[in-house]
This record gives sequence, C-alpha cells and structure tokens, in this order.
Amino acid sequence: MPLPTEPVGSLPRPATLQAAIAAYDAGTITRSALEREQDAACRDSIERMEATGSPIVSDGEQRASSFATYPVADTLAGTGLAPNLAGDGQYFAIFTDGHHRQLPRLTGGPFRYKTFAADYLKKSMPMAKKPMKQAVIAPSMLSLLYPLDAELPGYTRAQFLEDLCNECEQDIRKAFQAGAKRVSVDFTEGRLACRNDPRNPWTGRGMLEQFIELNNRVLDRFTAAERVNIGIHTCPGGDCDSTHSADVDYANLLPSMFRMNAGYFLIQLASERDKERVYQLCGKHSRTDANGVAQVCFIGVINPLDPEVETAEQVRDDLLLAAKHIPKERLGSTDDCGFSPFSIDVKPKHGSPDLARDIAFQKITSRVQGTAMASERLGVM
Ligand SMILES: [Zn+2]
Repeated sequence: MPLPTEPVGSLPRPATLQAAIAAYDAGTITRSALEREQDAACRDSIERMEATGSPIVSDGEQRASSFATYPVADTLAGTGLAPNLAGDGQYFAIFTDGHHRQLPRLTGGPFRYKTFAADYLKKSMPMAKKPMKQAVIAPSMLSLLYPLDAELPGYTRAQFLEDLCNECEQDIRKAFQAGAKRVSVDFTEGRLACRNDPRNPWTGRGMLEQFIELNNRVLDRFTAAERVNIGIHTCPGGDCDSTHSADVDYANLLPSMFRMNAGYFLIQLASERDKERVYQLCGKHSRTDANGVAQVCFIGVINPLDPEVETAEQVRDDLLLAAKHIPKERLGSTDDCGFSPFSIDVKPKHGSPDLARDIAFQKITSRVQGTAMASERLGVM
C-alpha cells in the first residue's frame, strides 16, 4: 500500500459563483439559478481534482457557506439562517490580517441542523468517478453558538450539547450513507483555543480539554471499524490567505488532540517553521491503539495560502523526513487546510479566486506525485 494522500476539502469558489452568491443575497437571482452555478462549480472541481491523479476527491465544498456554517446558513451573509439563531454571535476568529469571522448566536432550543453535509454530497456523488471524501464540522466549533456564560431560558447548555452531539453524529453517518469513503471533522478551533486573544473572549477560557471531550462524545458512538475512516483536521485557520493561530505552539495542542479517538488526522505542517519538531510530536503523541484504531498522521505538505507551487520533490522530502519520526504504516500526506474554507474569499495573494483554483490543482498534483515518490523510496508501493 502506498502512502495515503487526501485533501482537506474546500477549493476557492469561482468568481462567477461568488458573484451569484452575492446576487442571491441581494434577491436578484433565484435559488435555482444559484444552484446551477454551484453544480457547475462542483462538477469542475471534481473533474479537475480527479485529473491530478488524487485517489480520493472532494467537490471543493462549492455549495457550502463555509466549513463551519453549512449546517445552519445557506450563505455566509446569513441568508436562510436556521430557526432559533440570530446573526450576531461571537467572533469565531480574528485573523492576522485584521479581518474576522463571526458565528450566529443561539436564541433558544431546540438546536437542529438545517442542512447536513450529505445533502450536498448526494448531489456531487454522481459527478465523480473516483471515491469521494466529505468534511464535516466538529461539535466543538458549534458549541460556540451557545452563549459563553449565560444559560438560555428553557434550553440548558446540557440539553444543547446533547442535541448538538446527535446532529454531529447524524452528519457523519449520513455522509457515509451517501457514499463518502472518508469523513474528516474540521477542528480549526483546537489550536485557536490555545491562543488567549483578549479581543476574542472564548479563546481565553482554556476550552481545549472540553472540546476534546465533546468531540469524543461523538466519536465514541462509532465502532473502531468506522473510526478508521473518520479523521480530524487541525490547522491555524485559512481565510483570505491569512491565519488565526499560527503563533500557537503545536506542543500545546497535539498531546490533547491525539486523545480524540479518530482513526486519522489531517495536520497543517507545510507552513510550520520547524517541521521536524512537529513530526516528532506527532510520532510521540499519536496512538497505535485509540480504542481499537491505529491513528494515521497525514502531514500537510502543501500550503494553500501561498501561491508558490511546491514541487513533487519537496513533498517527497517532507515525507521522508517525517518517516524518521512517524512509522510509515501510520503516515500519509494532505494539504495544510482547505484552499478556501469560506465561500466568499478573493484569495488576495493569488490575484483572484479563479487563478487560485488553477494553482490549487497544480499543488494537489505535486502532492500526489511527491507522495508516490516517497512511497517508492520507503518501499511501500
Ligand atoms: Zn483548516
């Protein structure tokens, strides 16, 4: 078996789709006109990702408002917000370039997903010739919909968290039922939880451990055989070519992160200053037996925020160095993050979202080729 390689999930939405989303928000085009643009973008994403040689593909999340808000809002501007939510929740993240992203706010119970990831995946499956993966959002992220301190009248935090776990479990199960071969859970808030940014109050509450416990409440509802194909993605954020928590030392996150009983991890690493130290941490803290599954470390070898395309040789060399610290049976490659986790993203360092798409496919091609080269060198063909 060659080293496995897998994308995180998202791609920049084409400029035409981003314009269509704005027009839909403004009420100047219909829902079906928007869906035609989304379908075209998904088809293009799948066909071009398949052409890279990638053994598993995604639809680029072209229908999702964002990696975090797809269950509760049709667009990032908040059109089609789910019941019991208002648009003015807490900041999820403040990025290094100064922009921020905000979550909705829960106003009462019960909490229910309006859209499951599988609702979108079902439309994309017929477009793909290769196996597909699906990314879903972690319960830990959506736990931030509930007020930080106050209790909502008639809907306790405990009731909310139980409803949330049920919805997240269904999100994963429905994705597999729709045909996903792999499901990864986006956990970008893990690293941010270690940041303690006074402008963003939730980051200063030491919430990492409760995030881990909450996510395990969902993961533990799956058998070991199911969890082999359930992953966790960690990153310092990726939006408008900017990050939110790259200054947080991985040593503060990884020992806790690997306590989640997932079968694999998609770990941002290409953009780390000292990669070898992080490979060591992954080798040390990833587990051969996480309640019945061996944890596979997919190391990031591609930086989606940087327009410079990595070479296949760079990818190969990263993997060969990682293999000195992570057993090759538990090693794979990925991109550091989705290429555009939020639907509205002009990819400023790339010049345009359309150019950024072209570059993304070149980068994925390097990842696939470099991973094959590393597999050969490691004798795992
Ligand atoms: Zn990410």
